[in-house]
Amino acid sequence: MRAARILVLAGVLVGAALPWPALPWAALPAKAHERSVQPIVGVAVPSLEHGQMAVYARHWSAIVDLASSHPATRSEDFRRVLNYARIQKAWCLWGLAPRAIADEDSPFNECSHAYLAAARMLLDTMRQGASFDAPAERLAQTVDRELVYAGAPVICGFSGEDFDTASHVVPHWADIPRHPPSLIPFAGAAVMMLGAVAATRRWLLPPA
Ligand SMILES: [Zn+2]
Repeated sequence: MRAARILVLAGVLVGAALPWPALPWAALPAKAHERSVQPIVGVAVPSLEHGQMAVYARHWSAIVDLASSHPATRSEDFRRVLNYARIQKAWCLWGLAPRAIADEDSPFNECSHAYLAAARMLLDTMRQGASFDAPAERLAQTVDRELVYAGAPVICGFSGEDFDTASHVVPHWADIPRHPPSLIPFAGAAVMMLGAVAATRRWLLPPA
């Protein structure tokens, strides 16, 4: 167990310390992002610019909290988008994967677009409701200001996508080995699990 802990800790420390954008693979051309175009059967959720993601990520919880008790929840479509935002974030491992938002090549970038696009749609809907909603307007103005500070638009392969509340976007699991910032936590978890299995085995088996 001690060796496993040391390996995990080393992995996390190395992962946190390495200058990922400066490493050679960061200079590789972005691979083409492909997604089969399926007819939308739920509610269409337009994606957002890559450069807007960090702003909506900062306010995702506030937007979803506000939406949960908003009068707009009387609309079935609004409830679907709200539900989608929550489930989609869980599918995307709650946004915990390193560089999921900053890096277009992250296996978690597309699913991040999906749950953040849902948050944007919720905020826009609350803001455009029939009656003026002060908390939603205040939050929307804060988001607007931060979007201005975010600078020029940055588009990625997932910025033009329409997501579907009836179809959840999963991380690109197969790409994890090619994306070191995503791989290191998984490798650490695997080492920890192997260590736990070995320790349990030693505990269960009688000494020779
Ligand atoms: Zn992106």
